[in-house]
Formats: sequence, C-alpha cells, structure tokens
Amino acid sequence: MERGQILMGKYEIEKLIGKGGWGKVYRAVHTKTGDTVAIKLLDKQKLFTPSLRQIEKEIANMRSLRHPNIVQLYEVMATKTKIYLIMEYVSGGDFFDKLEGVGSFREEEARKYFQELIIAVDFCHSRGVFHRDLKLENLLVDGDGNLKVADFGLSTLKKEGGKLHGMCGTPQYIAPEVYTSVFGYDGAKADVWMCGVILYLFLEGRYPFDNKNDGGFFRCLSFQKKDLRFDMPWFLSEKVQELVAKVLDPNPKTRFSTRQIMEHSWFRKNFQAVNENTGKYK
Ligand code: ADP
Ligand code: MG
Repeated sequence: MERGQILMGKYEIEKLIGKGGWGKVYRAVHTKTGDTVAIKLLDKQKLFTPSLRQIEKEIANMRSLRHPNIVQLYEVMATKTKIYLIMEYVSGGDFFDKLEGVGSFREEEARKYFQELIIAVDFCHSRGVFHRDLKLENLLVDGDGNLKVADFGLSTLKKEGGKLHGMCGTPQYIAPEVYTSVFGYDGAKADVWMCGVILYLFLEGRYPFDNKNDGGFFRCLSFQKKDLRFDMPWFLSEKVQELVAKVLDPNPKTRFSTRQIMEHSWFRKNFQAVNENTGKYK
C-alpha cells in the first residue's frame, strides 16, 4: 500500500510501521473521525483455511477480547486475496526495542509489566483463547507506558498451526513439551512458559535458553526436558527467583498457571486488578 492511499473508502494510509511473520503493518487515519489506527495485512494464502466461516469465527473471538492490556481489534475487512485487520494503534513501539535500550529492567519495573502481561493472558485463557507466540516483539508500549499484548488469537489462523498441535511460535520461547508432545499440549501452560521467558528477559536481558548459541537446544529439550537448566541471576530477590523457577518449570503439570502466578507474593506487590466488566483498572 502507498502513503495517501485510501483503503475501503475509509482509512488513509500514512506509513509502514512494521513487518513481521504475518506481513506488513501500517499506520493509518480514519478519514472521518481522525482516529489513528494500525492496519495489519494478512495474506489469505498464509492462512490456515478450513473455511471462511472458521476464519470469521476466530476473528469474532478476537474482537470480543476487550482488555486494557490487549491491543484491540476494531474491524476486519477482506478482499479476494487479503484480510485487513484494523487495530488500535499503539504508539510507543515494542518491548524488544525498549529492552534493548536499557539492557534489563529493575525488579519493580519488571513486576509492573509482568503483571500487565499476566492479567491479559489470564483474561484470554478464561475465554478459551491462547496466544502461542508471546515474545517481546508482540508486547507493545502505549503512550502512558502500559504494556499491550498484540496478536492474541491470531495463531489459530496460521496455516501450519491447526489445533494446539504442531510447532508454533518463536524458538527461544517455545515450551519444552511443545517439541516433544505427539498428542497435543496444554495451550495455557505453553503460554505461561513464554511469559516465563519474557520475565527472565525483563530481569536478565538475555534468553534463559538461547538456541542461537546452543546448537543442541532442540535435542536438549527433547531428551532432557526433565533436567532442563538455566542460570538463575544471582542478584535477584529470593521471591522472584522462586517465581521464575515455577513459571519456567519444564514439567507443564507442575508449572504454575496464570492464577497461581497471580497469587504469588512477588506478583501481588502493588498489584492493580482490572474490572473485567468495565475493562478499567479498579
Ligand atoms: P510479528 O509477526 O513479528 O508478530 P507483527 O506483524 O505483529 O509482527 O508486527 C510487526 C511490528 O509492527 C511490531 O513489532 C510493531 O513494532 C508493529 N506493530 C504491530 N501492531 C501494531 C499496533 N497495533 N500499533 C503499533 N505498532 C504495531
Ligand atoms: Mg506480532
């Protein structure tokens, strides 16, 4: 799309703001209201398409997810070859860049973002929606410094995705059981693992398991998942070390759920709950 182009008689394209696994993301303005939006272009060929009805159902699901820490999907438009997702525009960039700028966050700051991440993930899980590709690039920062999760529900549309089966996500973030399970896995627990990788990144500034430096990563996960080790940063408080260990537990059965995370004392400090009816902080 070109700058100045009017999409569907409604949105004026301003600029390309990102490129990802899904395709291009543009910033645009609603010509009547002047509202800024983000438009994500999905190539229909890249979609897992049992039927158009299935896609419509998934998108309706995504649209119903209203939460202050989730990037809101406003509207969906489609042509023969493309689907346009019209979303809330989040102005502060993503956490990959934010973290790169500072190296790592102090515990208080990490806690605030982790709280926002977990309540968003818990909210979606309680509605039967899993993310399956949680990573720094999918966490955006709004103008007030709040975290917003992007791409919730999108993974179910991906071609190689299918049901909670098969590979999905970004290597450094994938839960061990996702590699080894033949009969599918618990999507909620796999999301929690990814949140654990993110918490570790927030605190330590590097991946707990970095397969770029470790060619044996995949083998290590498949054969030794019961004995999977990572370095626990020594400078962290005992409380957060305890939580990190519970969230990055290789065994999905004993790994914390979002609810258990929310009951942990490190998490609970300065926690502000969200009213799920109004979507506002209590
Ligand atoms: P990926 O496939 O890697 O998840 P995306 O297609 O989700 O990539 O997005 C690519 C980039 O576009 C993001 O990293 C982010 O910088 C930007 N972006 C995506 N959605 C939005 C949005 N709603 N508001 C502002 N920027 C966005
Ligand atoms: Mg994304």
